[in-house]
Amino acid sequence: MVYATPTGKKYHSHPHNDGDYSETTLDDALARGLEPCKNVINNNKAYRRLI
Ligand SMILES: [Zn+2]
Repeated sequence: MVYATPTGKKYHSHPHNDGDYSETTLDDALARGLEPCKNVINNNKAYRRLI
């Protein structure tokens, strides 16, 4: 699962600051055009290997 806010442009691996986070699936986040927060990249070794 990932976390996103209604107005945010990114998704997050954890709710890590103030905001109206809601849990969603990665597929849903990507379907909404959201990009990974730095926090997600830091926590996703598979992704880090790609960059
Ligand atoms: Zn974040």
